[in-house]
Amino acid sequence: MSTTSFELSPELQRYGQELREWSAATLRPHAREADTRKKVPDNWQEILHSSPVPLGREDTDADRLAPFEDGYWATQMCYYENLNYGDVWGLGTPGRGIGQLVVKAMGSPEQIKKWYDPVMDGTLETGFGLTESHFGSDTSQVATTAVRDGDSWVINGSKMYCTNGARSDYITVFANADKSLGAKGIACFIVPRGTPGFSIAKENEDKLGIRSWQTSELLFQGCRVPLENRLGWNAAGPVDEGPRVSGQGGALTALSNNRPNMAGIAVGLAQASIDVTTKLLKGQQAGFSTKRWAAVERDLDAMNAALQRARRINYKAAFVLDNGTPNRYNPAISKGYSPQTCDRIIRRCMQLLGPEGTSKELLLEKWYRDVKIMDIFEGSGQVQRIIVARELVGRLAS
Ligand SMILES: Cc1cc2nc3c(=O)[nH]c(=O)nc-3n(C[C@H](O)[C@H](O)[C@H](O)COP(=O)(O)OP(=O)(O)OC[C@H]3O[C@@H](n4cnc5c(N)ncnc54)[C@H](O)[C@@H]3O)c2cc1C
Repeated sequence: MSTTSFELSPELQRYGQELREWSAATLRPHAREADTRKKVPDNWQEILHSSPVPLGREDTDADRLAPFEDGYWATQMCYYENLNYGDVWGLGTPGRGIGQLVVKAMGSPEQIKKWYDPVMDGTLETGFGLTESHFGSDTSQVATTAVRDGDSWVINGSKMYCTNGARSDYITVFANADKSLGAKGIACFIVPRGTPGFSIAKENEDKLGIRSWQTSELLFQGCRVPLENRLGWNAAGPVDEGPRVSGQGGALTALSNNRPNMAGIAVGLAQASIDVTTKLLKGQQAGFSTKRWAAVERDLDAMNAALQRARRINYKAAFVLDNGTPNRYNPAISKGYSPQTCDRIIRRCMQLLGPEGTSKELLLEKWYRDVKIMDIFEGSGQVQRIIVARELVGRLAS
């Protein structure tokens, strides 16, 4: 990626174009069914393996997505945006999850080797267990507890909306290991599937959008894991080497880096909506008065400009993660701006088409439902705007 214009390299552009064309032709025809059945097509592997470009999937070596020269996060952004141009269900198939990002942020070198590397190799799938029934945004509110008992930690509590929770090989579970320290007592534990005391309370929650993505409710009742399953620890206790971030900080770092990708999904959906709408309106142009067509053109122009801004902000965030000092500011701008903007774009597309826009004959109403959650999960829009404002106020104060 160019350091001044954030233009993608020709290779990454070509990758994105091929992925976009394939996802529209191959994923999109299954979109309605995935939404209605609340699960991905039974032959999802066959469908995904027909992609002409790597999808970053781990169930096959040939499919592995190596970063382009633009950088890891820029490559991921291109992947997220263009895969979701077809529809969101492709991303909801078994994949890495995001639990491993916490391992990378908080784990010792041994833990990274044991729990992060196999995820990147495609051997393990992970879930990220932070949200509980009474909180999501305010990560200091973790009520799940972890109590040391000899060589083990005993975890009690529950987690909600854990993506891929029911099928992950392990969950990174945030729990308070020392309530006297308040939020500073929050730590993160690797809980492998099958650990006694860890059960699935609900396999898949019923949601407005991205209904084919599995989100699970998890229960931990006297769930015992070895000492070395606490991130940043080994069997003898805390380790000195490796990244030193607290439980809450680790959660925020992991989420922060992945936030622009959620904004990329929104851009993919909004681009798809603009393209579908433009094509339909073009077919109807002959029946429109000159004034009405001029109004259509104004709306299309405004939506396109807003979408370009969102895309540029997303790639800027990816660029900073790849090349600058990783910080929460640029990801927050991206996550705070793009989903909300794309929500408005898709709503406007539906409006321009009238009743047809809301009909189930088209996918616009589905994408409108799908895009909503991008403004809520992995850090809501309001919370992102607080992060941006604090950064701005902090700069003025210094
Ligand atoms: C499809 C899906 C997948 C998910 N995957 C995961 C996952 O894998 N792991 C996981 O741990 N969680 C996951 N979640 C949960 C998600 O991250 C939370 O729902 C989200 O963080 C919001 O938390 P909450 O639901 O408690 O809402 P709250 O935090 O209660 O927020 C409710 C509303 O209040 C606003 N708000 C909160 N605090 C402030 C403030 N200080 N100022 C202004 N407004 C504020 C929010 O922006 C929001 O609009 C998922 C959710 C969904 C729907």
